[in-house]
Amino acid sequence: MPQSSEQSAFRPSPENTPMPLAQARARIVDAITPIADTERVALQNALHRVLAERVIAGVNVPGADNSSMDGYGYRAGDVDVDGAALDVVGESLAGHPFAGRVGAGQCVRIMTGAVVPDGVDTVVMQENTRATGERVVIEKRPASGSNIRAAGEDLRAGTTVLAPGHYLRPADIAVLASVGVAEVSVVRRPRVAFFSTGDELRPVDGPAGQSLAPGEIYDSNRYGLAALISELGMEGVDLGVVGDSPAALREAFRKAAVCDAVVTSGGVSVGAADFVLDVLGEQGTVDFWRVAIKPGKPLAFGTLGHARFFGLPGNPVSTAVTFIQMVRPALVRMAGATPAEPIRLALPTLADLRKSPGRENFLRARLVNRDGRAAVEPVDHQGSGVMRSMSRADCFIVLPAAQNDVPAGEIVPVEPFAQTIWGQPES
Ligand code: AMP
Ligand code: MG
Repeated sequence: MPQSSEQSAFRPSPENTPMPLAQARARIVDAITPIADTERVALQNALHRVLAERVIAGVNVPGADNSSMDGYGYRAGDVDVDGAALDVVGESLAGHPFAGRVGAGQCVRIMTGAVVPDGVDTVVMQENTRATGERVVIEKRPASGSNIRAAGEDLRAGTTVLAPGHYLRPADIAVLASVGVAEVSVVRRPRVAFFSTGDELRPVDGPAGQSLAPGEIYDSNRYGLAALISELGMEGVDLGVVGDSPAALREAFRKAAVCDAVVTSGGVSVGAADFVLDVLGEQGTVDFWRVAIKPGKPLAFGTLGHARFFGLPGNPVSTAVTFIQMVRPALVRMAGATPAEPIRLALPTLADLRKSPGRENFLRARLVNRDGRAAVEPVDHQGSGVMRSMSRADCFIVLPAAQNDVPAGEIVPVEPFAQTIWGQPES
């Protein structure tokens, strides 16, 4: 059993055995306490929020039996042969129901979405009829009951529309509106502090301008992290670039500790300028360090004040991979939802894959259509510093730790980036 992070006597050492990803992810997700605070927001502002209440339908959707076609409504029992003619006694339009009752030998002209009048049990589409003055000929009879959408077939009054823990996507917003909900209770958004560490880093939007001094590089991770956090619908708190000194890190950690989560990049390895673990050990707790994946081995997980702490490696691809694999599910749980289990497809690789046994590998790749069948093609450069490999990819090829080289044509496990992140609660 994992120790709780508060009791951990963990001290990083290079001999420390990296933890398998599945174990690390489970341990991280288990350590997360979902945010309990809730707030009410207008439906218009509820996109990408997590529902904090059970929404029960107050009405049937649709509210009444209605037509799914433009055509004529009648009773099927009145028409026993193709070519029969009926008297048109009125019309039912969406928003303007036919008030009367439709009798034997009669029909109404009816439009899509219009209420089905009393006496009607079937709608024939207009294309299968011929109008002749006040009468209409049913040239081709549909089966009895055709083209009628039953009241409550989408949602029945009194049943659950959405359960607590549901992450609200555009379709969910529309479903809530369909039952007349104007406001919902949602979980407070996680506040996620993030910063980059490294004396070599230069912001792209800093006051010192755009040009780089020798040895400097642009800080790409912080912008990528900001985008990953805001893509989840969460509140990022940007603490900028922090230099490679314990003093600078202490100061940044103090500011970050009031948030719900802290995500840092860089300085978490065993280099001469890597102080993140030291300062985390001083000001918070280290739960574990190092995960047996490539790229992304030197990840540190722990606590800092009120916050859960994720120290990600600085190589840009490592930062992105560890965020997706470990931070994202943690933040989803923190937000009050359930992280979805990763979905793995089994697809043939179009190129040879290089792999030495040891760590689980996350190769960047693209899903492709090869002669009408799905396949996967690794991007050309797999270096952990080559962010282009993430930018050009839309999936990972996931090779297990013990795997060796894989020849082209073999079936490999593939994890699309756009897979479901947010699991659905039971309703
Ligand atoms: P570190 O994890 O600090 O040892 O950094 C590993 C590599 O990633 C080094 O080449 C760094 O220069 C680079 N790196 C670290 N942080 C960033 C960043 N925020 N943006 C781009 N590259 C970075
Ligand atoms: Mg560094």
